[in-house]
Amino acid sequence: MRPRVTVIEDNPDNRLLVEVLLENTYELTLFENGKAALEGMAEAAPDVVLLDISLPGMDGPEVLTRMRQMPELAAVPVVALTAHAMAGDRERYLEMGFDAYVSKPITDEKRLLSTIEDLLRRGSSATA
Ligand code: MN
Repeated sequence: MRPRVTVIEDNPDNRLLVEVLLENTYELTLFENGKAALEGMAEAAPDVVLLDISLPGMDGPEVLTRMRQMPELAAVPVVALTAHAMAGDRERYLEMGFDAYVSKPITDEKRLLSTIEDLLRRGSSATA
């Protein structure tokens, strides 16, 4: 069975790009906002989440906070996706509790895939 990856991203172009890059490798589920994503993930927890920082309504850090309060989602690794790459961002997002960080625009397909694969390996070794 292919690993399940959930993508939470409000920008349709970015969503489409991630879909094209990942759909052949993973079982993908895409959401446009945090509320829909939390409801969907509560029913079927993914193995890894790609979470846009800047979302309408509930932003990425808020979605992460809520996930960590839900027993079924508390341990799911979450990758921060941000368009506003600045010095110190990586450290800031890791401090917030994100497990990894990828800046947009996503131009390096291999880096995105290796980030996801690292987190999947970490997850499976934790339960082994
Ligand atoms: Mn956004």
